[in-house]
Amino acid sequence: MAEEPKETKPGFQNPVAGFGVTFRAMFKKRLTEQYPEQKKTTAPRFHGRHQLNRHPDGLEKCVGCELCAWACPADAIYVEGADNTDEERYSPGERYGRVYQINYARCILCGLCIEACPTRALTMTNEFELADSSRANLIYTKEQLLAGLEEGMVDTPHAIYPGMDEQDYYRGLVAEAAPGTVRQVAVSKGEQPQMAGPSGAAEEQGADE
Ligand code: SF4
Ligand code: SF4
Repeated sequence: MAEEPKETKPGFQNPVAGFGVTFRAMFKKRLTEQYPEQKKTTAPRFHGRHQLNRHPDGLEKCVGCELCAWACPADAIYVEGADNTDEERYSPGERYGRVYQINYARCILCGLCIEACPTRALTMTNEFELADSSRANLIYTKEQLLAGLEEGMVDTPHAIYPGMDEQDYYRGLVAEAAPGTVRQVAVSKGEQPQMAGPSGAAEEQGADE
């Protein structure tokens, strides 16, 4: 014959014991975060939105190798590489990333892509506000992902630093754009040579993009 379960407390104490949880919680420190009014600072190595980095003179680090796309478990990256020319140069070497897209409807922010990148072209920022109501808006293009211009940089396309080669860029021998560097005409993007500025380069046009 089965043994009757023992009652540990008299029946009338059970509701009171239940309120004990409520009373204890009332005196604990509140954990509510007032987002979005107060944004929490993320950890320095937080995995947020990606960034395509530049060399110190403004040339792009991406060589269009697609290793990041192959490493991605969510198939979230699309890359198309193309050849640089002396008239239209985006990176110091032979190839550059002509098309670069990350689909944040797929991305799980795991960081495998940045581990796979051989040139440190791709890194992740601390930006985490990526929500959107449109799937199309969640596909970030190269223009959105490319790092902004800092002091000493000239926007791409532009010539390689005189006397330097691709290896010199990775040795850190180029610290800024060479004096007189001007933006070239991006013919592959539909720009016309006559759209160039008074110096003969499309410098002003690029600044407006
Ligand atoms: S963070 Fe992960 S899921 Fe997102 S693009 Fe990179 S490899 Fe793919
Ligand atoms: S971001 Fe890095 S891994 Fe991806 S295509 Fe560019 S160079 Fe290759």
